[in-house]
Amino acid sequence: MLGQMQNWPLLVSKLLESGEVNHPNREVFSMLPEGGEFRYTFKDLALRARKCAQAMERLGIEKGDRVATLAWNTHRHVELWFAGSGMGGVTHTVNPRLFPEQLIYIMNHAEDKILFLDVTFVPLIEKLAPMLETIEHYVIMVGREHMPETSLPNVICYEEFVEAEDGNYEWPQLDENTACGLCYTSGTTGNPKGVLYSHRSNFLHTLTVLQKDVLSIGAHTVILPVVPMFHANAWGIPYAALAAGSKLVLNGPHHDPETLHMLLMREKVTMTAAVPTVWMQMLRHLKENDLNCGELKDVTIGGSAVPRSMIQTFQDDYGVRVNHAWGMTECSPLGSLGSENSAVAELSNEEKLDVQCKQGRPVLGVEMAIKDDDGNHLPWDGKSSGRLMVRGPWIVESYYRSGETALDDEGWFDTGDVSLMDEYGFMQITDRAKDVIKSGGEWISSIDLENEAVGHPGVAEAGVIGVYHPKWDERPLLCIVEEDGQTVTKEEMLAYLDGKIAKWWMPDDVVTVEELPHTATGKISKKDLRDQFKDYKLPGT
Ligand code: AMP
Repeated sequence: MLGQMQNWPLLVSKLLESGEVNHPNREVFSMLPEGGEFRYTFKDLALRARKCAQAMERLGIEKGDRVATLAWNTHRHVELWFAGSGMGGVTHTVNPRLFPEQLIYIMNHAEDKILFLDVTFVPLIEKLAPMLETIEHYVIMVGREHMPETSLPNVICYEEFVEAEDGNYEWPQLDENTACGLCYTSGTTGNPKGVLYSHRSNFLHTLTVLQKDVLSIGAHTVILPVVPMFHANAWGIPYAALAAGSKLVLNGPHHDPETLHMLLMREKVTMTAAVPTVWMQMLRHLKENDLNCGELKDVTIGGSAVPRSMIQTFQDDYGVRVNHAWGMTECSPLGSLGSENSAVAELSNEEKLDVQCKQGRPVLGVEMAIKDDDGNHLPWDGKSSGRLMVRGPWIVESYYRSGETALDDEGWFDTGDVSLMDEYGFMQITDRAKDVIKSGGEWISSIDLENEAVGHPGVAEAGVIGVYHPKWDERPLLCIVEEDGQTVTKEEMLAYLDGKIAKWWMPDDVVTVEELPHTATGKISKKDLRDQFKDYKLPGT
């Protein structure tokens, strides 16, 4: 027997409409790539999204067409995001930090029909345009007064494009399983892979993001999602903000701590989210200039492991609660996060901090399992580590145009992360499967070593890789970036680590580097670091 309730398709246009109808005067603030800033309301944003959808239809963009964006977090990007998906197209957020060859590969593989780009990216796209095989129109996201001279063909001015329409447009009632967004993984090995989200998956993901224990988002929240919209849907924050009625503060192309801090204070931000490298710079800036965080209450950090020292500093020195989240492009992206449950609430402060350093408990809608290399399930005992497997309605089933399932026989997706589950149901990542250091048949977690190393006050950033060792196969090499004006010797570093890690995890060498290589999504690129040190000889070998 079937239920007899209304069969209302779960569409992302409904999230926008909820914002428009229930919170029409809530503000959106945006820094602009062409300079200056802009402010309007949810009502204005929704109208502009409809105008943008109308304009695209008039231009010949059809349902299913891929609508690419190469843009920072701005009000225009948000309205375009909703327009592309809402009209039945597929909003393809392209990460401008990828290498030119990857950008060309991605846009050709996606068969993007139209590209909306910030004025900042015009010189880059002018170089790539001859290789972009399917793009018919280039829309530069500025007003006429800021349109650059350009060699790009079929160029459109965004403001004229949108403002030529009247907004008298109804969002189509699509099947909720219709494709809605496309995002490519950052592809540290091989070509990037496309993850094709549906309206249903993004809608359900939004409902989970809006739960009390998840990202602390509600009608009173003022959110600065520093995490870019081109990185895994900005962790779903723009959807959630519109749905909940939270004020959105968008930092445009600015990621420097000075601007972010100015925005925190001036716009009275209460919640923000980004990868650890952003917060490392911010904490340094706060300390050097004796600043506080204004009304900021919650910071969600994910994308890479959050060092204990970062959690402590935010909480103890600035009264800001750290929410440690884990996710990936393939998970829309949210998989787990670290808000305490009733069992953890009983623990001492030190023990709570231990739990916060883990990657959190699975959110409703995501199931997790740990399997060994033979596919056997491992217990959740805080000790057994293996491959982290996930499943749920917003987890990838197959990569875009791959033609094959990405799941195992039981329907689990292998995340490529090595993890364990503790007795409180909190997951802890010990490594990427390919980054784990295999020493004498045992595994050493590069993430744990890095987290301990950055606890040293003279260390700004740390990366650990396995280097060939004739007896043990691999041994850890610790690469550190020193804080400005500080020197940390190998002896000091090893003495600092002594007692904090198992003896046999102690790095065989410590080297100071000017900087560590990063991926397009802000993670330390272990692949590049391994390449840099591929001929490195450990002392005594
Ligand atoms: P991306 O698809 O670029 O978001 O990358 C996803 C990958 O980032 C995951 O598979 C993890 O390896 C890593 N990651 C994300 N969040 C965390 C975290 N909190 N701690 C450690 N690694 C993380």
